[in-house]
Amino acid sequence: MTRTFQKPIKRIVVKLGSSQIVDEKFKARRERLNSLARQISLLHKKGIEVVLVSSGAIATGMGELGESRRPTDLGALQARAAIGQAVLMRNYIGSFKKVGLKCAQVLLTWDDFGKDTRSLNVRHTLDALLQKGIVPVINENDTTSTEEIKFGDNDKLSALVAKLLHANLLVILSNVDGLWDINKKVYTEVKEITPEIITVSKGTSNAHVARGGMKTKIDAVQIARAAHIPCIIAGGNVKDVLVKIIAREPIGTYFKV
Ligand code: GLU
Repeated sequence: MTRTFQKPIKRIVVKLGSSQIVDEKFKARRERLNSLARQISLLHKKGIEVVLVSSGAIATGMGELGESRRPTDLGALQARAAIGQAVLMRNYIGSFKKVGLKCAQVLLTWDDFGKDTRSLNVRHTLDALLQKGIVPVINENDTTSTEEIKFGDNDKLSALVAKLLHANLLVILSNVDGLWDINKKVYTEVKEITPEIITVSKGTSNAHVARGGMKTKIDAVQIARAAHIPCIIAGGNVKDVLVKIIAREPIGTYFKV
């Protein structure tokens, strides 16, 4: 069985949660980043542009400090993000370099999407990077964001980016293999966000490393679908996950438009 996409896939946004970036001990998952970079280079060869929305700054910062318990104080979290973001980018640069690609750091806040000129500036920057074949690596700017306006492990941010860039697909890579029904079976295809979907999306989280859970992912799916962008939630541990998704293999949960 293969999937059908309504439009040719030319530009995708891929969101990586913190659990994709570090392991349970807050150590970088270097192999996963290397694999991701290799897959993105394959996608480039097919003429597909890829934008990453990557969390993991706070978790990486905790790893750098040898911590295993997440601080609760906002300033302490912002400090971890400041430490971790630099290391995160160093890791991305290293992984992309292995496959002859370059990447660029773009840090955004909620405000960047509110005002026309600011969002236009973001779009121009991202378009210019994509034109040069550079992979934008976007994260929330945790240093200036306050608790009220946090994006929630970037799920919503990834949807706003996909909308801004008129992406053809939003892929959310997670530590679960898709959206589960009440029997823990993955929905392969969802055509409408029904009350049943809302209900099953609540109450899932991996608070140790990841934040957000399935609820914020479904919120993101709703933003993207309203902009006619299909979404796939899939397990980040699936071998060659992006390549398989683009080959229309039925991986994860596909939210059609
Ligand atoms: N932007 C944050 C990060 O990259 C979100 C994740 C969190 O709040 O733990 O770490």
